[in-house]
Amino acid sequence: ESETAVPADSVREEYENLADLVRKYRYAYYQEDAPTVSDAEFDTLYRRLEELEALHPELVSNDSPTQEVGGEVSAAFAAVAHLQRMYSLEDVFSLEELEAWVRKAEASVEKLGNGVPAIAWLTELKIDGLAVNLLYRDGKLVRAATRGDGTTGEDITHNVLTIKEIPRQLSGSGYPSEVEIRGEVFIPSKAFAEFNEALIEAGKAPLANPRNAAAGSLRQKDPAETAKRPLRMFVHGIGAREGLSATSQSDTYKLLEEWGLPVSPYLKVLGSFDEVLEFIKHFGEHRHDLLHEIDGIVVKIDDFGTQRALGYTSRVPRWAVAYKYPPEEVHTKLLDIQVNV
Ligand code: NAD
Repeated sequence: ESETAVPADSVREEYENLADLVRKYRYAYYQEDAPTVSDAEFDTLYRRLEELEALHPELVSNDSPTQEVGGEVSAAFAAVAHLQRMYSLEDVFSLEELEAWVRKAEASVEKLGNGVPAIAWLTELKIDGLAVNLLYRDGKLVRAATRGDGTTGEDITHNVLTIKEIPRQLSGSGYPSEVEIRGEVFIPSKAFAEFNEALIEAGKAPLANPRNAAAGSLRQKDPAETAKRPLRMFVHGIGAREGLSATSQSDTYKLLEEWGLPVSPYLKVLGSFDEVLEFIKHFGEHRHDLLHEIDGIVVKIDDFGTQRALGYTSRVPRWAVAYKYPPEEVHTKLLDIQVNV
């Protein structure tokens, strides 16, 4: 029997059960840095939730998991309000879906009708780490926070200060008096393998994967513990930025680099969807030769004016999308290590 617009009790029940499950898995992932299911499994459940909502819009409420940026603020940390909201990303799981997203974005841009030139697509790797928000006042790093629910994050300043790559003081003089820089903190793949080998030699349990290891490392109570972890960061966004002269995200990255912030060596500004496809193919093939783990590619409209005009939903920007690579088999090397423990 096909699903109808009015949700039957059985549909509502499926929906509520799914929503509870998604909340439970999110809690393990974000609050405990210890996921209990694979990302692929989680994504499938989440997709079904979205599907049910599309069929039965009455099911959607303000606290539905699809309306929120996953992640809360743990009582172990002080809560800090971001000056500008942090968002998640809309996911697509196939190249067809990606193309549909791109065509829709192109149509929206055309509708803006400002004689907008061809879209420049800022194409980046989707780093599998933890998002942080760095607040610089007069060039000095005064606060670092996790994304949390997007409005309020966790104060992890002391832990972030142990990451040498993140400048305490910006270089040069062209930075705004107050600026929020967003980036992904990660553990490089090689350093992760070495760190785990050392743990095993010391008779300790190895860490499950670099993403959760990075998140767990940053959310330690003792910064001395964080300092032992091989953490790095690449910037991927900017929040509050009053007085910033750049008019595109890629130009902003050039400024951030001048100020001493770490910018990814992998990103590209591309002029067509075909070039984006090439980028995806290339990094799909070289996924394991990279400095860090990735779970996909992020495609963003580079121009700030267009970003502003397209805006945000309650959860994601309308000017960016994450293409997720198909899930892979479990890394056998790690599996061997675990079996030997
Ligand atoms: P997301 O990870 O899909 O996308 C948003 C995040 O991507 C941003 O907050 C940012 O931190 C990060 N990012 C990395 N590289 C970026 C770049 N170049 N530009 C911009 N952002 C970049 O969204 P999410 O809401 O954090 O979480 C969903 C993800 O977490 C999914 O992959 C899901 O599978 C996983 N998850 C898994 C479980 C589980 O139980 N296994 C539970 C919850 C979430």
